[in-house]
Amino acid sequence: MSMHRKKCGGCNCGKNNQYKSKHPLRKSVDKLKNPLTMMQSFAMSLASRGLTNKKADIPTKQLRTLSCFGDESIGGSLPPCEGLGKSETKGRFYCTECGCGDREGTWLNSTNESYSKLDYPKLHCPKKMPGFSNYIMSETKDNSRKYIIENYDAAQLVKITVSSPDMPEDKKPII
Ligand code: SF4
Repeated sequence: MSMHRKKCGGCNCGKNNQYKSKHPLRKSVDKLKNPLTMMQSFAMSLASRGLTNKKADIPTKQLRTLSCFGDESIGGSLPPCEGLGKSETKGRFYCTECGCGDREGTWLNSTNESYSKLDYPKLHCPKKMPGFSNYIMSETKDNSRKYIIENYDAAQLVKITVSSPDMPEDKKPII
C-alpha cells in the first residue's frame, strides 16, 4: 500500500523470504527464481559470519576439508586442491599457495587433539574456496573444483570426518 514500504531486512518477522533464502541448508532456496545451491548458500553464510568463536564449527571444517583435500577419504572422486602440498613431516599437509610455508602452525591437518589451520574461525584461502572467510562464488558453470563443491551433496559432506580441538591458550590472545 505505502510507497515507502520496504521488505524486512532480516529480523525474522516473516514479511519476506529474502532473508530465509540466505540461510544455510534451507529447502526454501529451491523455490526462488534463481536459487543458490544449498552449498553456495551455506558457504556464503559462513563467509559473511562474524568472528565470535575460537574455532570453526564442524560443518565449516568439513567444507574446508572438502575444498583442500577433496573427497577421496569418503570414496569420492574429487581430487585434492592443486595447492595442497605434502609436508616434510609425515602425514601433514599445507597450502603451497598462501606463502606461509611448511611448519606446524600452517598445517591444514593435525592429530585429533591438535588445533590446525582449518580450525581457525576466520581463515582465507588463496583460491577463495567454499568454507573460507573470503569465499567468492564461481562465475562460470565449468567443471572446476569450486563449481563441483558448490553443487556438492550435503548428505555426502557430513560424512567427512573432522576433529574439533579447542584453541590452545597461547593462540587465544591473537584472535
Ligand atoms: S588454495 Fe585454498 S583450497 Fe587449496 S590448499 Fe590452499 S587453502 Fe586449501
